[in-house]
Amino acid sequence: MLESVFLLVYALFGAAAAHPSSSEITKPISERAPGVSLLLLILLAMTSLVPSALLLYQAESGAVTNGVAISISSGGLFLLVIIRVVGLLRKVEFQAEQLSLLSRIDELTGLYNRRAWMDELQIAVERARRDKTPFSVALMDLDHFKIFNDTFGHQAGDKLLRGVADGWMATIRIPDILGRYGGEEFILILPNTNLEDAANVLERLRPMTPTGQTFSSGLALWDRSETTERLLLRIDQALYRAKAPGRNRTVLAEIDTK
Ligand code: GH3
Ligand code: MG
Ligand code: MG
Repeated sequence: MLESVFLLVYALFGAAAAHPSSSEITKPISERAPGVSLLLLILLAMTSLVPSALLLYQAESGAVTNGVAISISSGGLFLLVIIRVVGLLRKVEFQAEQLSLLSRIDELTGLYNRRAWMDELQIAVERARRDKTPFSVALMDLDHFKIFNDTFGHQAGDKLLRGVADGWMATIRIPDILGRYGGEEFILILPNTNLEDAANVLERLRPMTPTGQTFSSGLALWDRSETTERLLLRIDQALYRAKAPGRNRTVLAEIDTK
């Protein structure tokens, strides 16, 4: 009777191995069909309990006659479960990584979003303080973008925003960070860069802005003691002053004397 149970277990193992989906066991988990049905879970739990139930029964009757078979079948099951658990853990890790990446990216432009560039700005401040290097930050605001939207439509506006992001990303250096400040406004963090070099970078961005679109910018050098909020406020005020006299220009932020 017991032998036939074990034969059945082995036959099930064989059938599982012969199933076309068995080759998928080595594939990355994300390529496979998701979901485990409740019925499958109940079956797995019941099958997993067969060896220990048999062992208990045999031990109770005073003689363990199928020890080797019980050990092999429970070991096999254990391995299958472990393989599945490792696969699931890998999938969860991968998804957590993807989620963390996505939570830092602006959906429309693919640039750093506010959460991400705020982090990067703080890191830049700390690095500049530690390494005693200069670093500059600029805000760029597209000029009369509302008119562009009103004339060509919101979708064309979105396309232009993407084009701006692509054109500027292709221009800046690897350590520089370009983010979407919000709407049609962008932020550029330039580590290890003085004001003169930063102003030159901004001028290089102008011809890379699609469809002849212009932008105004405020630019500041971190004063080595101010908070990121204060730095951004100074730049925002400079940007405002760049708009007033006619746009399409960069204005340097005033130095804080407070
Ligand atoms: P200024 O030169 O003073 O900056 O004028 P402006 O028209 O660019 O500025 P305003 O603040 O008046 O308008 C900003 C416009 O940007 C209005 C808003 O609809 C548009 N905008 C903001 N975000 C998006 C977006 O994600 N897609 C599109 N297509 N338009 C956007
Ligand atoms: Mg604006
Ligand atoms: Mg604007």
